[in-house]
Amino acid sequence: MPNRARNGTLSSTVLQSQNGGEKNGDVKADDGRQPGKWGRAWEVDLLGAVCVLLLLTTTPLMVLYFFVACSHFECSLSTPLLQFYNGKMTVMDFWEKAPFLTINAFKIIIPWYAFQVFLYYLPDACGYILPSYRGGRCRGTITPSGIQMFYHINGLQAWIISNTLWFANAFYFHWFSPTIIFDNWGSMLWLANIIGNVVAIYAIVKAWFFPTSAADCVFSGNILYDYVMGTEFNPRFGKWFDFKLFFNGRPGICAWTLINLSYAAKQYELYGHVTNSMMIVNILHAIYVVDFFWNEAWYLNTIDIHHDHFGWMLAWGDNVWLPWMYTLQGLYLVYHPVELSVWYASSLLVLGLLGYYIFRATNCQKDHFRNTSGDCKIWGAKPKVIECSYYAADGEKRQSKLLLSGWWGIARHMNYTGDLMQALACCLTGGFTHIFPYFYIIYMTILLVNRCYRDEHRCSMKYGLDWKRYTSIVQHRIIPGIF
Ligand code: NDP
Repeated sequence: MPNRARNGTLSSTVLQSQNGGEKNGDVKADDGRQPGKWGRAWEVDLLGAVCVLLLLTTTPLMVLYFFVACSHFECSLSTPLLQFYNGKMTVMDFWEKAPFLTINAFKIIIPWYAFQVFLYYLPDACGYILPSYRGGRCRGTITPSGIQMFYHINGLQAWIISNTLWFANAFYFHWFSPTIIFDNWGSMLWLANIIGNVVAIYAIVKAWFFPTSAADCVFSGNILYDYVMGTEFNPRFGKWFDFKLFFNGRPGICAWTLINLSYAAKQYELYGHVTNSMMIVNILHAIYVVDFFWNEAWYLNTIDIHHDHFGWMLAWGDNVWLPWMYTLQGLYLVYHPVELSVWYASSLLVLGLLGYYIFRATNCQKDHFRNTSGDCKIWGAKPKVIECSYYAADGEKRQSKLLLSGWWGIARHMNYTGDLMQALACCLTGGFTHIFPYFYIIYMTILLVNRCYRDEHRCSMKYGLDWKRYTSIVQHRIIPGIF
């Protein structure tokens, strides 16, 4: 097995409790750390409850608003609002412009999901063919209650097969139009919403009645909060169907490049050519998506998999928010085909690729550092570290290290910086006449800044004074010298 050497000894079971998993951590560290309580919030105040209610109600409407604004108001976000304000349009008028759920949506989405489930269960071949790719059975994180997770990684293969079939259809088989996604995007939005909510409802029912790991469920006492933020940590069907791994990567991220290709095909159909702005969006997004799947095993250690519980936020977010909102730049370019000057297009490519380099290099440094327990070289020298400790849910004290060298010595989240540079490059392809294509960078900035605060709060709960030592040495979060 290609991953075996990297992951050390693999357990024959998927979930293996290392510490019994059911023990209650009563040990309290003397610097404010709370043993095992470094997942999501355990108690919910009124503000927290109001926030999740707002999230639950406004975000689906927002996606619909963006879609209708683009398809009926030339991608102007202000025109519908001004028409509401001036009394020229009622909510019912707006509603009438909203797409319908059609049978076509079922014909596209159901086979797509079924196909992704099929691909999810296929044995991974990429690990055998591509020497530095980590696929197959991979060791994930240890959950707060001490359970070791194992995963079946084959996302790259699923992406390659899905995209190859798309090209084979577009250029050879002609089973369906390459613009099929664009042409049915509105009606598919309804069905994706239904799926996102059904998965979230199922997740909370499962957490209550038949959780995969009861020890890792968190019940806050507020059912709405639990529904949105998630209750179960790593829900699964059987041994291998992991909700987080599947919904996080497939079908949304796998579809991302196909959605962009469908937009490019629509541009070609409408205008007889594909603009360089559309090509840049397709290229930069494709790099991001391939990188995601190439490093799928690595993503097992990111916050989404490592710390977030599986609820509406992930279920709906993965099925609706990501495919519809992350691809807005391409949608905009269908309605506004921007042709960029060569120097401007080249500058955007350089900005995007540089961002990607920083994003990947930062993530790789931490990965390498953690995999070698600090016994490695960062930028050609032995890394500077902070030795630290934390308490797991079982009260056991464990050792860890924080990296002070390389990108992690410049700012505490240079990976976010690189991510934002790529996002900005994609948005700038839309020119300067509309705010619409800039939604992605605005959203990513809010998301990553919020994520940065959440992560740092969690790290300070986990590492206590050791985290304070780190932040006093590396003082800035995302923009060196500024923030
Ligand atoms: P990170 O990969 O930055 O991981 C944060 C964790 O790293 C911390 O919780 C801590 O975990 C550990 N850590 C922090 N500082 C150090 C240090 N100095 N040395 C060693 N370990 C450290 O965060 P994310 O999981 O949020 O992001 C992963 C990637 O995903 C990023 O590149 C991000 O840009 C991208 N991303 C993209 C999103 C999108 O929608 N496009 C959304 C979110 C993320 P520990 O407990 O192990 O110490």
